[in-house]
Amino acid sequence: MSISRFNAVEKASNRKAVEAIIPDIKVSEYYGENVFNRRAMKKYLSKETYKALTIAIDNGTPIDREIANHVAAGMRMWALEKGVTHYTHWFQPLTDGTAEKHDAFVEHDGNGGMIEEFSGKLLVQQEPDASSFPNGGLRNTFEARGYSTWDPSSPAFIVDDTLCIPTVFIAYTGEALDYKPPLIRSVEALNQAAKEVCEYFDEEVKKITCFLGWEQEYFLVDEDLYSARPDLSLTGRTLLGHESAKNQQLDDHYFSAIPSRVQEFMKDLETECYKLGIPVKTRHNEVAPNQFELAPIYEECNLANDHNQLLMSVMKRVSRKHNFRVLLHEKPFMGVNGSGKHCNWSMGTDKGANLFSPGKNREDNLRFITFIVNTLMAVYKYNALLKASIASATNAHRLGANEAPPAIISSFLGTQITEVLDRFENSAIEDAIEVNDKKRLSLGFGQTPELLLDNTDRNRTSPFAFTGNRFEFRALGSSVNCGTAMLALNSAVAYQLKQFKKEVESLRAAGKSKEAAIFEVLKAYIKESKPIRFDGNGYSEEWKEEAAARGLDCENSVPLQYDAYLKPDVVRMFQDTQVLSQKELEARNEVKWEIYIKKVQIEARVLGDLSLNHIIPVVIRYQSVLLDNIAKLKATFTEEEYEELSVEQRHLIRKIAGHITAVTTMVEEMVEARKKANQIPELRQKAIAYHDTVAPYLEKIRHHIDDLELMVDNQMWPLPKYRELLFIR
Ligand code: ADP
Ligand code: MG
Repeated sequence: MSISRFNAVEKASNRKAVEAIIPDIKVSEYYGENVFNRRAMKKYLSKETYKALTIAIDNGTPIDREIANHVAAGMRMWALEKGVTHYTHWFQPLTDGTAEKHDAFVEHDGNGGMIEEFSGKLLVQQEPDASSFPNGGLRNTFEARGYSTWDPSSPAFIVDDTLCIPTVFIAYTGEALDYKPPLIRSVEALNQAAKEVCEYFDEEVKKITCFLGWEQEYFLVDEDLYSARPDLSLTGRTLLGHESAKNQQLDDHYFSAIPSRVQEFMKDLETECYKLGIPVKTRHNEVAPNQFELAPIYEECNLANDHNQLLMSVMKRVSRKHNFRVLLHEKPFMGVNGSGKHCNWSMGTDKGANLFSPGKNREDNLRFITFIVNTLMAVYKYNALLKASIASATNAHRLGANEAPPAIISSFLGTQITEVLDRFENSAIEDAIEVNDKKRLSLGFGQTPELLLDNTDRNRTSPFAFTGNRFEFRALGSSVNCGTAMLALNSAVAYQLKQFKKEVESLRAAGKSKEAAIFEVLKAYIKESKPIRFDGNGYSEEWKEEAAARGLDCENSVPLQYDAYLKPDVVRMFQDTQVLSQKELEARNEVKWEIYIKKVQIEARVLGDLSLNHIIPVVIRYQSVLLDNIAKLKATFTEEEYEELSVEQRHLIRKIAGHITAVTTMVEEMVEARKKANQIPELRQKAIAYHDTVAPYLEKIRHHIDDLELMVDNQMWPLPKYRELLFIR
């Protein structure tokens, strides 16, 4: 039974802050204490095992069974000392979120007793039933085998009494069933391609690491208010609710003082994160009331993504202790900002250089331009794919709305980089080389690289912005696994870098010098990729028109946006970089369409139920009160007086009746539309039908109910209103 509105409001407003439990030692002393990191490895593994394992981790080479056995024994000892009783393979199925199946360490010892066991075999591989997870037809129930396989590059960790081993989830036939395998492959593809291009500038570079620094936005809502809203509990967002008279107009929430209840939650959350080795650093209020943000220090891409996945589950757990529910939905409330997950992305060499930072000499600066321009080219060529990579039923409510980037991918460079590229494009190759040979001036900014790090020139409306030494991909939704977008970006840039190298080499084969060849290709790229560059207001109407004229992808329908994954050039790109096969791409799209359908379907069901069983009965009751009132007026007064005194009520009754009819008819139509869509066997077509014929009702019905909220007696209204949900005291 869901709790009643006034009960919930009363409980929420009387709630005291729950004090956080903070260790009385410095963070540096307990950081990573629940992680089997290198410090723990050193302590619990033999010298030989430690060495073999770290070499395998650093080079991505396989680990043999004997080493795995030693590692498992060390891990077990470490975990048992920490009171751990169970272990699980932790993976990221395509549903979003993480999956785990816990097994106890105990086994029969053969003498009627028990013994704690954990072998290399159990560490390395398990066989969860793959058919129960979304797999796009890659697994049938009668042949359900799938393997979860240890990913040694991400360290094992302890949550509560369970040792969690990060794994990849693959089908018996080898196809990836989760986010991790293609993400790892894309990181490797980027490493290879970027390293080969880096060799033009520095032959000693042996490895390129891809970095990710996410920023996680979220809302908090009091637990009882959440329970009193079936829509929040079942869909993660409010399907109804008139805007509060005050929300974010005054901009008084952003960066303002954090309420004490929230502050205590954040402290506990951060402590948990530190124990798990998640290097969280920044916390602040966001623009909307009850909206907050958390950001860590950036890390290697695969590890950073695991940490984000882990963070989301830790958030859910810790918020309960503080009588909150955390909302990771992209648009929980209409009329206030939604939540995104910005992905700050960069590449670095094993010698510590950031490929998106200009350097002090000619080579470094040419390298900087090479990587910026190739990234732009990749984003330009694959803008539809990048958009598909962030598209979802839930993120669609945010994109195109007022606060978020529109459903068009473009890149902001800022005035300084734009000038540098303009100058580069217009300089004669000979001049540039001559200037470079004198090791002076370089590309016009060689002496003043620090200028470029100036971070003030920022455009918050751009979905893919250069921010000084990295690109910030801002279009991701708050609930999503960063892996989808990161693997698309990494693969596209890797593929682009390979093309670049090919073109440079063919010019060199035709007799051009290395530098002249690089200049020529980059100049052509700067020209070609211009349509993706946009420094203006990405939220304006004019931009939508201009973007279409520039040939950028402007598709607004999520099911159709997914088509980008199966375009021949995209399939070729993923195959060439060996990140995803055509079969995997097709299967993943099936999963995406299916998830889209289910999300809309659930929302439609919940809204139907709320409308007919929660709202309309109350509205009718209120209408009866009005009717009763006018009947009494009629009995009491003369005809003339009655006419005058009841005019407003009669008007209101008519308006209410109009809304009742509209809501009930539209709910019926929505059910019909669903029934019709459900007949369609093919998932893509079905998703399109859900988008075109079912989803529009969600908005239309809500509109009427939100109007009714302002008409009906406040005492009768059954669901907590926005003003009650949105302001934590
Ligand atoms: P803002 O909100 O101003 O964009 P934040 O401080 O909230 O900035 O977040 C910036 C994010 O960018 C952090 O996660 C940070 O670690 C990350 N970051 C900083 N430098 C890099 C880099 N070179 N590569 C990747 N991520 C980076
Ligand atoms: Mg931020």
